[in-house]
Amino acid sequence: MRNPHPNPSPCARGEGLTAPVTSSPGPPPSAFRLPPLITAAVAAHHEETVSLLQELVRVESVNPYFSNYETPSREGDVQDVLAVRLERLGATMDRWEPDAKALARHAGGPGYYPDRDFRGRPNLVATLPGSGGRRSLMLLGHADVVSAGEGWRVDPFGAVRQDGAIYGRGSVDMKGGTAAAIGALESLRAAGVYLRGDVVVASVVDEEAGGMGTLAVVDRGYRADGAIIPEPTGLNVAPLCRGILWGRLTIPGRASHIEMPQPHWRDGGAVDAIALGRVFLDAIDRLNARWAESPAKRHPLLPLPCQVNVSMLDAGEFPTAFAGRMRITFDAQYLPSERNQRGLGGHVKAELESFFAEIAQGDEWLRENPPHIEWLVDADCGETAGDHPLSQMVHDAARSAGAASRMEGMSSHTDMGLLVNAGIPTLNFGPGAPSVAHQPDEHVTEHDLLLATTTLALVIAEWCGV
Ligand SMILES: [Zn+2]
Repeated sequence: MRNPHPNPSPCARGEGLTAPVTSSPGPPPSAFRLPPLITAAVAAHHEETVSLLQELVRVESVNPYFSNYETPSREGDVQDVLAVRLERLGATMDRWEPDAKALARHAGGPGYYPDRDFRGRPNLVATLPGSGGRRSLMLLGHADVVSAGEGWRVDPFGAVRQDGAIYGRGSVDMKGGTAAAIGALESLRAAGVYLRGDVVVASVVDEEAGGMGTLAVVDRGYRADGAIIPEPTGLNVAPLCRGILWGRLTIPGRASHIEMPQPHWRDGGAVDAIALGRVFLDAIDRLNARWAESPAKRHPLLPLPCQVNVSMLDAGEFPTAFAGRMRITFDAQYLPSERNQRGLGGHVKAELESFFAEIAQGDEWLRENPPHIEWLVDADCGETAGDHPLSQMVHDAARSAGAASRMEGMSSHTDMGLLVNAGIPTLNFGPGAPSVAHQPDEHVTEHDLLLATTTLALVIAEWCGV
């Protein structure tokens, strides 16, 4: 789950930690066969799954994007921890550092960043060969985490286990999901279950700052008949994620002494960029109201319509001068149905560019001094049908395991689009409330971890055949 700004929200105050955020257990009204052998094996293996998660959290695998690449990445140390577990299961291992030059044929498409340096930052793909004849499954997680930020009441890399939860950066996003996936495979092995279809476990680097690790997995030719990304979904099945655009609109003005009478701007007078900025902010509000009612900006699996959310404002230089410039930074979302031919948000960019240009036409100064828009990020989206057999199977398994699981898309971005574009039906499903990701006191409850591990074990057995 990506949010390249280390922007910790204020933590709750008070003594000790607040109550862990969990996904409430729900009824199991499902036709899914619930082999007691598997659920018992997952429960018996729970301590091992917890200790794997703790081991992963204790590796400070902060994406170097957050330290401006001054601190060496420890994503490789995460891969070391996983490799020990996966080798024990008899997987064949493939470990390599992505290379931006070698991936250049993806330039201009999703997940490609020409200047990204992956030295010392290996991807890991482990393949567990099945006996053959059934569907293969990919389980893909990211090894990197966002920086810890401020406001923690526990060591962010201590993996504290308290009140039925594991605390630490990455416990939710998404080492909890990775631990659940490995815990599921280990539980199946402990139960004496051998699979017919292959299982491909991928642990990628650099998800939190671009997704190029996953691009490298796809480029290397890894494919499967289905994929699950165990990002935190609160145990909901998320066969959809939105595309995200970050844009910055710069509105020009003309600075001048704020206490003095001003001639018309044509005669050299001030132009207050803040006053012009208000016009744009009001217009964005009206646009959002329109988008909220527009079927093109809504998806039945998403609780929120696409919006243009203003996140940062920046204007003026002195208390005594009219602002000579105002910058409005925003986050706008788009749906898979709005993608352009490259699979990115070009249509929505064009829509917003002409929207801002039209507003500028209403002002004489702006007609002659048009605002400028920069696009900072375009993170792609992806979708798999809610009635796809994999979506249905994960949903049934989660409810059978005891989770109040819904089919609900992710309002944020994950790497699923890169897999979907490669022809792999993909969904997100994992433990932990997505709302606590990227926050101080990030934590996953052991209950969520157990339900996710159980669900994944059931799905692996059912999808791949035993
Ligand atoms: Zn994530």
